[in-house]
Amino acid sequence: MTTTELGSFFNNINDMLIVCTAAGDIVFVNDAAVRVLGYPFAELIRKNIYDLPPKDEHDEASAVLHAMFTGERNNCSLEFAGRDERRIPVSMRMWPDRWNDMDCVFCLSRDVSGEHESLELFTRFFDANPALMAVMSFPEGIFTDVNASFLAKLGYTKDEIIGKRPDDIGLFPDAAQRITDTLAATGHISDSTLTIRTRDDTVLHVRFSGDVLGSGGKKYILMTMTDITGQMLLSQKADELEQRINEIVTGAQIGTWNWNVETGAMTVNERWAEIFGSALAELPPVTNEICRRLMHPDDLKESDGLLEQHFSRKSEYYDCEIRLRHRNGDWVWVRDRGRVIERDAEGRPLRMFGTRTDITERKKLEAQISEHSIRDALTNIYNRRHVFERLDALADEFRRDKKSFAVIIIDIDHFKKINDAHGHQTGDYILQEMALIIGEYIRPYDIFGRYGGEEFIIVYSGTREEAASSMKRIHNAVGEHTFMFREARIHATFSCGIADCRERVNGGNPVAAILEKAETRLIAAKRSGRNRIVVSD
Ligand code: GH3
Ligand code: MG
Ligand code: MG
Repeated sequence: MTTTELGSFFNNINDMLIVCTAAGDIVFVNDAAVRVLGYPFAELIRKNIYDLPPKDEHDEASAVLHAMFTGERNNCSLEFAGRDERRIPVSMRMWPDRWNDMDCVFCLSRDVSGEHESLELFTRFFDANPALMAVMSFPEGIFTDVNASFLAKLGYTKDEIIGKRPDDIGLFPDAAQRITDTLAATGHISDSTLTIRTRDDTVLHVRFSGDVLGSGGKKYILMTMTDITGQMLLSQKADELEQRINEIVTGAQIGTWNWNVETGAMTVNERWAEIFGSALAELPPVTNEICRRLMHPDDLKESDGLLEQHFSRKSEYYDCEIRLRHRNGDWVWVRDRGRVIERDAEGRPLRMFGTRTDITERKKLEAQISEHSIRDALTNIYNRRHVFERLDALADEFRRDKKSFAVIIIDIDHFKKINDAHGHQTGDYILQEMALIIGEYIRPYDIFGRYGGEEFIIVYSGTREEAASSMKRIHNAVGEHTFMFREARIHATFSCGIADCRERVNGGNPVAAILEKAETRLIAAKRSGRNRIVVSD
């Protein structure tokens, strides 16, 4: 080939060709060299190749070039400085050849900026990565590089790692063989969870990824490990906690509900269904609507009110006692407690979680206790305190509704004599029997109670005349009755005074005034011979 032919051949290639004398004076450059270095052709061929590397690298670059010129090396990596002072990493090959009948040196250089950039990027990525990263030769599996996180987490210095195998430091206590085998077979492991051991024998949980990569004809393993020990511990704790809660919930027979307030859908547990006699599996999808339908209508309003208070953040919890219709038709009392656990940006409730406990037994006990506290122990009719409480409320109610009510006070005649003649137990028996007989005539809306020792009281809905005609029937019934206790056969009578709210004196306490009037009439009944009813003065 002539020099001209050689020139046009080299002008068609992408690599830079620089032809220079043995002293480095440039005699020819191809188009690629002009383009990459940015100098005009005429300027370049006045330069010496030793001037092309950046000034700050002049000495090292000169040494490398010298080694090339003397034939010590035939390829090298170095940097050129472009006309705009841009640093251009190149990989260069050099050989002697003739140019225009001169002995020259041909330098063919490839711009490796792109490769350099990715290497630099990788190095930065590698060094600054919070994950533990290591490069190992393949297939030998010897560490050639590890990053700062790797050293910091595992407690080694770089010198202690480079040149070793994972087994030498006991890195993978139980997965070393599996990792090597998988990488050899597939070249790739992604997101495998395994344990590694640090220098001081602490075990860490990591997510492991490994790849076999080729670089410059050699193969490497790049492995990346993310420490997930914290996460693992947390999720282990959460699992344990959930299990404990479940045990408690099951053990304590607590029903649970998780309500999607927006859709109304509810997730409930077995106990929740069991409380009203169902099995969870038998239930249709539970919704808030179904729950409301199971509720006692009298409790709905209170429940809605409490819920609204909680929704609008006026209360920290929703806490309500309600009755539910059991499958067998009975009402069961439950206590529902819950809390909104998620709201939207406007604060509207999205999700609510709560518990439900069966409090029927407690309610029964409470009812019994409160019943006890309002009953007279001997006769089981209302006690005096309860009658007075009701009397006050009734007085208000009657005043409002302009309805009449009467108070009847009954006192057994000569009861002391009965006691004296037949004994106290017989007296008790007569009190009980008397309460039963009178009780038969009492309408559900009248109040019948024990007023004192052998005295009864009736708060009667109606006028005193109506009350008197009722009392006449009772008076007859008692008069005809023979009280039989052991051998005794006893006849007993009573006297009775009646007053009603129409007679109320202005100003004073109406209840006290009526009672006083009824008592005055009772005394009048006694005075005028006993065994009679007095309704007027
Ligand atoms: P009067 O016709 O004037 O009412 O005469 P009385 O004897 O019924 O009236 P008094 O007030 O003199 O006596 C009432 C008696 O009732 C006195 C008391 O021992 C008796 N007594 C009060 N409570 C009980 C009770 O719970 N059981 C019995 N067995 N007797 C009682
Ligand atoms: Mg008396
Ligand atoms: Mg008496």
